[in-house]
Amino acid sequence: MTRPSPAAFLVAVLLCAPALAQLPSANDLAARARQLETDDLAARARQLHRDAIVLDTHIDTTWRLLDAEWSFFDRHEPAVRGSARGTGRPAGNAVDYPRMREGGLDGAFFSIFVPGTVTGPPAVVRALEQIDAVRQLVEGHPGEMALATSAAEVRVAHAAGKTIALMGVEGGHMISEGLAVLRDLARLGVRYLTLTHTVNTDWADSSGDTPAHDGLTDFGKSVVRELNRMGVMVDVSHAADKTFWDALAASRAPIIASHSSCRAISEHPRNLSDEMIKALAAKGGVIQINYMDAYLDHDTYVAQEARDKALAPIRADLEKTHPGPENAQKRMQELRAAASALPPLPRPSWEKIVEHIDHAVKLAGDEHVGLGSDFDGASMPVGMEDVTHLPKITEALLRKGYSERAVRNILGENVLRLMERVEQVARELQAEGRGGTPGRP
Ligand SMILES: [Zn+2]
Repeated sequence: MTRPSPAAFLVAVLLCAPALAQLPSANDLAARARQLETDDLAARARQLHRDAIVLDTHIDTTWRLLDAEWSFFDRHEPAVRGSARGTGRPAGNAVDYPRMREGGLDGAFFSIFVPGTVTGPPAVVRALEQIDAVRQLVEGHPGEMALATSAAEVRVAHAAGKTIALMGVEGGHMISEGLAVLRDLARLGVRYLTLTHTVNTDWADSSGDTPAHDGLTDFGKSVVRELNRMGVMVDVSHAADKTFWDALAASRAPIIASHSSCRAISEHPRNLSDEMIKALAAKGGVIQINYMDAYLDHDTYVAQEARDKALAPIRADLEKTHPGPENAQKRMQELRAAASALPPLPRPSWEKIVEHIDHAVKLAGDEHVGLGSDFDGASMPVGMEDVTHLPKITEALLRKGYSERAVRNILGENVLRLMERVEQVARELQAEGRGGTPGRP
């Protein structure tokens, strides 16, 4: 082909000029290309979120199930701060069946939770009542729900299009009656035990309390071994750092942080340090990122600490003027009223969740990070008021350049792989012999 002379080329361009003027500019074309890419990415994210097994390892919706006037199958509004209905609790909430379907959340660990100050037989009874509530929820709706106690059961239920309920006990005080109770909880379908809540147990230190045991006591270590033998995940969320290290050393199976974020971003002692995240992952474990505003955002954490300090004398006063469990609601109402007079806390954006996921992935790889929202147990960041917002995380990760495989890992495959490994270790240990005595701490 002969090349046109520069002059002929210029003539051709000039002749075409009027037509060129009608064409979109280079900027317009680039913007259109970007738009197409965005649409494509959003469509890809929706498809991926639909196809993947999406699991959340910590929701606190269980207490609602015990309220006869509340139905998991009705659609509710998200909670609004301060929207107490005279109950001392917000009227709305973050998770129900219709919104789980809309948000593409296929399954969740319902937290079995009793405050750490309740111990002994009353704690066990209240845990059993909540386990019953979760099991009744599933038994009453076999077409919609399935209870899963293994990774294989999760996959079967997902393939059948069902919403999956799993259970985790949040606090070792619920087994304070000993290893026999631990085994019974496991037999009822509990698949993780959070070693502590915000106060120490008789055998483990909490990140929210003054150290009393230098981590795990000998009995605490026997709890970890028995959890391994029963195929129940050892959960280190809420644990003191020393408890974390002791549990990691004592456990033959990899362990989970069911709802914890990164201390490098928000210095809350309840979050995991980089060193802890790396060690957890090196042993095959997963960190499931918590969405609570103060765990995500350092400024919110600092402001919340200051607020707690300001409210401490009022709380102490209320303990004197309105003592006892029968006045707990009254005290909470009074505290809420006092808190509402203080300046509002800063509220981070939901995008902080993605920042924490990305931080943990950079430390540990995409096979050791997942989602543990704390929905219905914590105040959420702006844009993640309820479970319907979940697909935004999938899209944001794709937009960051994460592969579809990495996103599937984070959405649910990592925790399934962990469950499979824990089940395998349990089979090995059971083949080796029977469990410990029903001994108490
Ligand atoms: Zn918690």
